[in-house]
Amino acid sequence: PVIMTAANGHFASVGDDGDKQQQSFEHGIQVIDENKTFNANLPAYLDAEHVLRQGFNYHLISVFGSQSTGKSTLLNHLFGTHFGVMSESERRQTTKGIWMSKNKRDQAEGGAVKMADNILVMDVEGTDGRERGEDQDFERKSALFALATSEVLIVNIWEHQVGLYQGANMGLLKTVFEVNLQLFLKDNNSTPRSLLYFVIRDHIGTTPMSNLRQTLLADLTRIWSTLSKPPGLENSKIEDYFDFAFTALPHKILQPEKFVESVAKLGERFREGQKSSRTNPFSDEQAEPILLPEYHRRIPADGFSMYAGNIWEQIDSNKDLDLPTQQELLAQFRCDEIAREVLVAFDEVITPLESKQVDAAKSGSPSVLSGLGKAMNGARAKVLKDFTSEASRYHQGVYKRKSAELETNVDARLKALFQGQLSAAHKTGVQEFTEAVSTAVKSGQKKGSNYDFQKIVNAEKQKSLKKYEQEASGLVIEGASWSNYQQELDLYRKDLDEASARLRKDEMRRLASRVERWVRSHLGESIGVQFNKLGSGRGGSGAPETGERGSIEKDLWDRIWLVFTETVKHAESRFTERAKGFDASPEEVEVGLWRLRRKSWGVLRAKIDEEVMEGNLLLKLRENFEDKFRYDEEGVPRIWRPSDDIEGIYTRARESTLELIPLLSKFKLHETKSLPPLEEWIGQTPAELSAADEEDLHPIGGVDEEDGKTLEEEMTVLSDAKKQDLSVRFKKTADGVYVEAKRSAIGGVTQ
Ligand code: GDP
Ligand code: MG
Repeated sequence: PVIMTAANGHFASVGDDGDKQQQSFEHGIQVIDENKTFNANLPAYLDAEHVLRQGFNYHLISVFGSQSTGKSTLLNHLFGTHFGVMSESERRQTTKGIWMSKNKRDQAEGGAVKMADNILVMDVEGTDGRERGEDQDFERKSALFALATSEVLIVNIWEHQVGLYQGANMGLLKTVFEVNLQLFLKDNNSTPRSLLYFVIRDHIGTTPMSNLRQTLLADLTRIWSTLSKPPGLENSKIEDYFDFAFTALPHKILQPEKFVESVAKLGERFREGQKSSRTNPFSDEQAEPILLPEYHRRIPADGFSMYAGNIWEQIDSNKDLDLPTQQELLAQFRCDEIAREVLVAFDEVITPLESKQVDAAKSGSPSVLSGLGKAMNGARAKVLKDFTSEASRYHQGVYKRKSAELETNVDARLKALFQGQLSAAHKTGVQEFTEAVSTAVKSGQKKGSNYDFQKIVNAEKQKSLKKYEQEASGLVIEGASWSNYQQELDLYRKDLDEASARLRKDEMRRLASRVERWVRSHLGESIGVQFNKLGSGRGGSGAPETGERGSIEKDLWDRIWLVFTETVKHAESRFTERAKGFDASPEEVEVGLWRLRRKSWGVLRAKIDEEVMEGNLLLKLRENFEDKFRYDEEGVPRIWRPSDDIEGIYTRARESTLELIPLLSKFKLHETKSLPPLEEWIGQTPAELSAADEEDLHPIGGVDEEDGKTLEEEMTVLSDAKKQDLSVRFKKTADGVYVEAKRSAIGGVTQ
């Protein structure tokens, strides 16, 4: 397990004391101190130097060499840095641990060739032959650290040390080569090359540069050959891992102008160059650029502190360095961090929309959020783009996996919004559709019942579908295959069809009650007329003068049945006609007609009951009787004379009227001598009958078996008791009329 503590302060804010820190960074930053502690402030330094956000656009250079060989002096001249330099008077070590400073000369000064951007220089504690022993451990660790991170290692060496194979410098180089083999053992393929840049100090000029170079290369090869190499690398050559460059500098004290001039020229080589142009060793004379892409460790600047911290942690705890794994771990950590950072902007846009949707759903009135599609598209594109621009610099495998993870997370949330919006659009759409149709029907009814229901439904359905599609297509997210609404649209269409069916049922009901009302008012009148005819004892006007009992009386029920069935037939055709107009199914029409017939029968039955209510019927019997008694065959009123057979006429008229009571008491057809064929007339119960269809229907005797009432009973208009009662009352009334007639006959004589 890799300890990440060193990087925990990675994004520690610079805070209010930024200026103070800027101040304290004047000499750069001590990356590793004398206690071998890694400085957690490194990100703050990189931020202060504006390197943190530079991605790969930075370079790392380290310097090695014996103590007091002018390394710090050289760096300060080369890069304008302020590394501590030993004063001429006290001769003791000044550089403790590893310091880092950013190049101050990258803004090219007058005519000079421009240096590369963002060069970071590490001044590594030197080795002093006199102080060897206890510091060897640190020296080794420093070398390892510098190699793992730096592109160029400057080896600072006095001219007179060249060729002294036993010298301290060569010991250091042996260490560098050894750790290099150790370091990159694990991943031979991705071994990065480094440049060893020998800077020879106090070059007097008597020995030509080419000789010095020759000597050094020979020494290096010799050192390489004496190294114990790990298995598989026995035949490796030093050139497999290192490139070389050599520069000689004049004596700084003795030839100060020449020294400055040479250092300036040396500085020009710190430029970016291409592999094709290089030779190994680099030619000093042509001043080739030395910062080649292949030396770069490919750690983005914002990940450098964490990477370096972890490397140091491993080195210091004497663990095997596993750079590829380190790079993957770094990538994982940074990609997660970057994902969190880029999600902040995403959340700012998306979270309020999510809570709005949740609140609306909770309140039970889903609302369609305006501008949602645009917001989602924008937020998604931005979060993915922002992530890519920061994270794609890290380990590609990790980056791609984390990018896919981010996309999955983002899409899960967007998909929920997408679905929520569609479902809100669905619910409100169906509701609006239902309301729109109802409103249109109501206004159609106001203008008269001649509106086209089906046309209204079709128009509203098209409108509603169009609106839904508009909403849904606005939600489609570019590049997200899941943002597809075909299935939802199909469901919506289906629900609109169901809502239409419900509306059509309501419409059927309205039509049925209109037709029923018509039946009621029509029967009310025409049945009343039939009963009124009873009032005339001669069978109504224009009755045949046979003297026989009026067929009007005998045919009463035949006529009522006829008027009834004709009326209902007419109503049925009206119903059928209108129902066709709104596309009702044959089954729905069948149910409607069946209901109409049953309800119509109820209407008739109630009308009959009303007509035979005690007072009404008694009045009609009296009229019937009086008509027979008080008028002669010619329809002329009788003037009673005492000689008239008042009693005989009275008895005949009374008996004739009394015969009406049994006739009236039962709904029986004269022609067939049987009850009306009610069951056949109502017809078979339709197969597709809902509970609602049966809701307001009353049972009919002889038709609905479970009712236990027979057809005979259904057709009984007057019970026996009623009949009895009626005839008694009628007789009394008739008696009264008779007495009056008698009196008038006598009175007529006396007058
Ligand atoms: P470091 O320990 O390698 O960093 O060496 P310093 O830069 O601190 O310098 C050590 C001493 O060497 C100082 O007294 C410098 O003045 C002196 N010095 C610096 N550059 C040169 C040079 O080019 N030649 C000589 N002879 N002395 C130098
Ligand atoms: Mg120094």
